[in-house]
Amino acid sequence: MKYCARCVLPETFPGIRFDEEGVCQYCREAPGPERRAAQRARLRARFEALVEEIHARPGYHALMAWSGGKDSTYTLWLLREHYGLRVLAFTLDNGFTSPAALKNIRVVAENLGVDHILIKPRFDLLRAIFVASAQQDGLYPPRALERASSICNSCMGLAKGIGLRLALERGIPLLIYGWSPGQIPLASALFRFTPPMLRTFLQTATVPLRTVAGDEVAPYFPDDSMVLRATDLPYSLAPLAFLDYSEEAALTRLRALGWELPTDTDPNSTNCLLNAFANQVHIERTGYHPYAMELAGLVREGYMSREEALARLEVPSAPEVVAAVRAKLGLPPHP
Ligand SMILES: [Zn+2]
Repeated sequence: MKYCARCVLPETFPGIRFDEEGVCQYCREAPGPERRAAQRARLRARFEALVEEIHARPGYHALMAWSGGKDSTYTLWLLREHYGLRVLAFTLDNGFTSPAALKNIRVVAENLGVDHILIKPRFDLLRAIFVASAQQDGLYPPRALERASSICNSCMGLAKGIGLRLALERGIPLLIYGWSPGQIPLASALFRFTPPMLRTFLQTATVPLRTVAGDEVAPYFPDDSMVLRATDLPYSLAPLAFLDYSEEAALTRLRALGWELPTDTDPNSTNCLLNAFANQVHIERTGYHPYAMELAGLVREGYMSREEALARLEVPSAPEVVAAVRAKLGLPPHP
């Protein structure tokens, strides 16, 4: 397999072009370190002004979408300890949250002083969604699959829907995600929902899920009346995209909170067992790893060495984890 000489995007990535030096167009077009640092500083200043503004408000300041993984747990620490926000955290248990992650969530929620809601949708519905995501072509547009597997897209759509619904129901001004710096473009790291954006989001997230499960998915999204009534739409934020971040420093901080690195998941996820299966399906169907884009971003922005990212892409999904997931989804063993 040929990879970009600078990041880790493979020759199998859709639309990839390498120049005579073997460098991909994403690396060529990426803003230089100075421009990125300036963009990050601007976002950080906006975020801190926002924190200042909402500090005096009663009730919760922030709703955190908390997977229990390393990055979202570190984000939660920042919100609580560094910015002193009152946080409500919620976790979507997709039926495959690793036991180690659930233990971490319990310990950290207590040690950090955050209120926490665990939302566990009915498993028959989740199973239908995940099986269709693994098997149906065209459920998601190719662009959506460049950043995440079909299964991850379904799960994230549900998590975002649940988050928006909770934020609107409870009037919480900040909806916070723990995306690591490579996971999202800086341009989407801080924005305030407008009614048209909200409708577009709901359309994009619900159409694939409705294709599979119809109205059964409605309880996990804001309904039309909530969208119409909402005058004060929340901000969507991914603070790790613009705050100082190093995986090593984050892990040191988390260990002090009682968080332990799970040994029961694959190297690209510290909370979800389904991920190993989702990755394997994505690679077999598309020919590239669903984390290639994210890891390439981390390398490009200097958060991870190219060698380490390549090593993570080359670790195969653990067969015993995949087998357990297939059994729980009611699928035959991997051929
Ligand atoms: Zn590249």
